[in-house]
Amino acid sequence: MAATSVLVVGGGIAGTAAALGLHKAGFDVTVLEAHHDAAEDLGAFLTLASNGMRALAELDATDAVTAIGFPLTSLRLLDSQGSEAVRAPLGEADDPALRFRCLRRGELNSALQAETVRRGIPVRHGTRLVSVTDGPEGVTVHLADGSSAVADLLIGADGLNSTVRRQIFGRAPQPRYAGQRVFYGYVHDAPVTDTTGTITMVRGSESAFGFAVSPQRETYWFARIGGEPLPTDGPAYRTAADRRDELLALLRKDSTPAADIVAACADRIMVTNATEMPLGTAWHTGRVLLVGDAAHAASPATGQGASMALEDAVVLAKCLRDAPDPHSAFTLYEQYRRPRTEHNISVSGGISRGTHTPSRDASAGPGARRPDDELIRQLAWDVPLSAEADATG
Ligand SMILES: Cc1cc2nc3c(=O)[nH]c(=O)nc-3n(C[C@H](O)[C@H](O)[C@H](O)COP(=O)(O)OP(=O)(O)OC[C@H]3O[C@@H](n4cnc5c(N)ncnc54)[C@H](O)[C@@H]3O)c2cc1C
Repeated sequence: MAATSVLVVGGGIAGTAAALGLHKAGFDVTVLEAHHDAAEDLGAFLTLASNGMRALAELDATDAVTAIGFPLTSLRLLDSQGSEAVRAPLGEADDPALRFRCLRRGELNSALQAETVRRGIPVRHGTRLVSVTDGPEGVTVHLADGSSAVADLLIGADGLNSTVRRQIFGRAPQPRYAGQRVFYGYVHDAPVTDTTGTITMVRGSESAFGFAVSPQRETYWFARIGGEPLPTDGPAYRTAADRRDELLALLRKDSTPAADIVAACADRIMVTNATEMPLGTAWHTGRVLLVGDAAHAASPATGQGASMALEDAVVLAKCLRDAPDPHSAFTLYEQYRRPRTEHNISVSGGISRGTHTPSRDASAGPGARRPDDELIRQLAWDVPLSAEADATG
């Protein structure tokens, strides 16, 4: 495809990774990011799985990301009595570039944005898209400051509550609650014996709990519990202590390290709803395509949202590189990405709603195992993608 200008809306994981991929494929890319700062969202943490790390490697961005966070090489599974049910290597633990990695989301965004800028790709902070006009000669974005910009293509990487999605496809369908509240926090010198490099998953009687200890002895933990969603019209909890007390009441029913970890947490306890996109929503039209959470947000149970966004970036860049025109490229992209990302939405949502039991070796998501050859081929930068290929991913 001839050199084409691409605007990427959103400088999160999906947007920066897409920019890196498109730039590598020879496109003229600019990222528009609403936030003024690179790392405003330092709260949440996430684990990048081996499949996400593989996608990063194909974008030549391994070093940028392994400079932050810490690697995880083994998985431990405890039952509600604290007995170890499983201990196994995690993902592609033998390859330092492909090891699972635990990071704060804001740090990951900052690292990817810095890498984007380092490669000469403009990242325009404080630039909020408010509307889109898709036309035969180009796509025009209208910005909150009253200005506008035109490009050949627009990639909507603006997250769960995507403005691009609303602009292109109207208000429906919207993201929906996936049946769990997700608590997470950090605590120094928690009363745990775990060593760095292990993620421990605890199947509690009324919660799914997980934790990992950083080399600095900071414990990163999360808990997912069922029940009603957090209210949209006001805070569900007055203080962090309220959040801790609700959680502790559930965790203390079991004999696992979970309650002691949360009890040691002072005020660094956050909570959010597990949210997902319904299946079958439209992803592209004309010159506009959605990627990352904007297209296929999943409940966090499988821990795959960020890794899926990184996979998106590689496959999108390859499709636009290899297909004869944007429509063919977007169609090809969807053929490859929809089955895999919607499988993740279904499995993750099923785990969150309690209708799907995670298999023993998949407790940390699909990336806990070595990816199949088909995915490796899809992500391999030098292997062309074509409509004839098997895209069942
Ligand atoms: C509690 C929790 C735990 C999670 N744990 C994991 C995990 O362990 N592993 C994992 O892989 N995933 C995890 N995820 C999911 C993961 O965080 C997301 O899938 C990932 O961050 C999605 O990236 P994104 O770039 O698509 O969207 P976002 O990170 O939401 O980025 C969107 C960007 O677009 C910008 N933006 C929005 N609107 C506009 C606009 N109008 N104009 C310009 N810019 C705009 C935003 O400022 C933002 O920077 C978790 C999610 C949650 C909620």
